[in-house]
Amino acid sequence: MMDLSGKVALVTGAGRGIGRAIALKLAERGAIIAVNDVGDAAPANVVVDEVVAKGSRAASFMADVSAAGEVNKLVEAVVSTFGKLHILVNNAGITRDGLVLRMSDADWDGVLNINLRGAFLCTRAVLKYMLKERWGRIVNISSVVGMVGNAGQANYASAKAGLLGLTKSIAKEVASRGITVNAIAPGFIDTEMTRMLRENIRQEVLKEIPVGRFGLPEDVAQAVAFLVSEEAGYITGQVLKVDGGMVMV
Ligand code: NAP
Repeated sequence: MMDLSGKVALVTGAGRGIGRAIALKLAERGAIIAVNDVGDAAPANVVVDEVVAKGSRAASFMADVSAAGEVNKLVEAVVSTFGKLHILVNNAGITRDGLVLRMSDADWDGVLNINLRGAFLCTRAVLKYMLKERWGRIVNISSVVGMVGNAGQANYASAKAGLLGLTKSIAKEVASRGITVNAIAPGFIDTEMTRMLRENIRQEVLKEIPVGRFGLPEDVAQAVAFLVSEEAGYITGQVLKVDGGMVMV
């Protein structure tokens, strides 16, 4: 059930947090993992070792997902290393929070470039290989914030909302070719991204989560593992919230 043996998966921003958990979960199901991250290669290489310890294959590929040239080289390197590419998880993301009145151009552009443009660039680069296979799975990691908005996160919410439009449009473009494109909208997941928030804010958020706990990276990874499976082949253009019931719309 939900076996990914022989499938090659590229996970962006997989050096830590949710991306790392996705890489490890797909490896558990038998997938070969291309671990992308930016900057210091050490965390990505640790994830490669963790995948190998689970009995699968992996390699790290450093690239900034917001730079077109780097993304094209990244995808070519993955295909020349593993021969094929079947699964893309657009997970790399950043926040640069601030009220819009005081938001700098750099904080707007930086968040849009990595969260939204990065997903577009990676998707464009992988599609020709998926089309050749007549099989592909793309999962975009959005956020519930992209659906309901959040004061102080106009840049991030816009990028995550944009990802939903990207997901649905590409899903329509490639549905007849055996390629599905879906989004996951996590709620509040306990990672370095959310650990930088003040404790009083974390406690306020916790009150809004019916399940009564913050999400774990593994909660998101389980949902990704389902959406990239053979069994999920009739699901495309959808948004799956993984948020402990925080947003019910
Ligand atoms: P995280 O712990 O901050 O990890 C983000 C990863 O992305 C890091 O490994 C980071 O690398 C990498 N990255 C950043 N910029 C990149 C770039 N330009 N190219 C390639 N990789 C890049 O965040 P997380 O909480 O795991 O979040 C993962 C995804 O889930 C993000 O898209 C985030 O928006 C989304 N999400 C998170 C939550 C949450 O509550 N945590 C909720 C909803 C959605 P470095 O370590 O080198 O910076």
